[in-house]
Amino acid sequence: METNKKILITGGAGFIGSHVVRRFVTQYPNYHIYNLDALTYAGNLENLRDVEYASNYTFLHGDITDEDFINGIFSEYQFDGVVHLAAESHVDRSITDPLAFAKTNILGTMILLNAFKELWKDNWEEKRFYHVSTDEVYGSLGETGLFTETTSYDPNSPYSASKASSDHFVRAYGETYGMPYVISNCSNNYGPNHFPEKLIPLFINNIINKKALPVYGDGNYTRDWLYVIDHAIAIDLVYHKGENHETYNIGGFNEWKNIDLVKLLCQQMDDKLGRTTGESEKLITYVKDRPGHDLRYAIDASKINKELGWSPSVTFEEGLSKTIDWFLENKEWMDNVTSGAYQEYYKEQYK
Ligand code: NAD
Repeated sequence: METNKKILITGGAGFIGSHVVRRFVTQYPNYHIYNLDALTYAGNLENLRDVEYASNYTFLHGDITDEDFINGIFSEYQFDGVVHLAAESHVDRSITDPLAFAKTNILGTMILLNAFKELWKDNWEEKRFYHVSTDEVYGSLGETGLFTETTSYDPNSPYSASKASSDHFVRAYGETYGMPYVISNCSNNYGPNHFPEKLIPLFINNIINKKALPVYGDGNYTRDWLYVIDHAIAIDLVYHKGENHETYNIGGFNEWKNIDLVKLLCQQMDDKLGRTTGESEKLITYVKDRPGHDLRYAIDASKINKELGWSPSVTFEEGLSKTIDWFLENKEWMDNVTSGAYQEYYKEQYK
């Protein structure tokens, strides 16, 4: 699977997708990487400035729910592989607009699966469809236990239900049409290019601007955090070395209660901004809980570790510090995102 492949990466202008595109473009000069993205509020081509002129990279502006467009590009470019990340990804938005999540995450995935099937159903040799999914499909854990690849699906939010559904469709295409696929279910990511509606970048921005840090409920919600570049490395490994029809859980064995994470963030930010220790913690405010909020997610990543030799390259403290540094050094990125300036620019460019 090493030479002259045409790989479609969907959602490559988003947070995780941009790191995956960069990794594939730079690690595999013999591949041609097509980045398909609708440039929703979450897609930002600034995330890819350093690779946009690479000779093995092409950006395709389009929507995965547009069947004619998708069928057209599959027939034109004959992609050998798909790494599918495009999605509506924010749980809070899924609570206010669940249909948008069903449309993109379920229907959009099916349209891609169908286009791929139509192209290769007579010969699947060296073809692969990779669905990048989330640990939220497993629902919530109590105080103990870990999600493994055999944990039953039990999604609670419209977001996780839509991702669970798309995982099932990927499996069904594998069983029904013999499509070679892999799925990975990953824990919460953080790092450069993270859209500031999500906890870590939102709080970094609020601390810089001395604004309140709204923590849901009592702050005891627990998440397993992974540095986004470690996720991109894992995706590369699973794409190239994972077994067909297998699922891999990806996580950092790195659980944090939200409140402890926020306190660590405050300490690191005080330090980096030259503020008195404890100053940023004063910004913490507890707010009304999100409906259907899962108490705890934690991933057992031993399968990918044992079978593919993957483990995170940075500790959480290191990853968080690198992330804060990135946001402090890229104030313009944050300003453009929070002001929506980049979206105005795309509206003009792609009208
Ligand atoms: P993101 O919201 O930052 O990026 C999503 C990208 O998809 C954006 O560039 C957006 O423009 C694009 N997109 C949205 N709808 C589209 C459509 N209809 N057609 C084409 N493009 C469209 O998301 P992310 O956090 O980078 O997540 C990427 C993937 O990884 C998602 O599938 C998500 O479910 C999964 N995932 C995310 C996390 C996490 O912590 N962020 C963890 C595990 C899995």
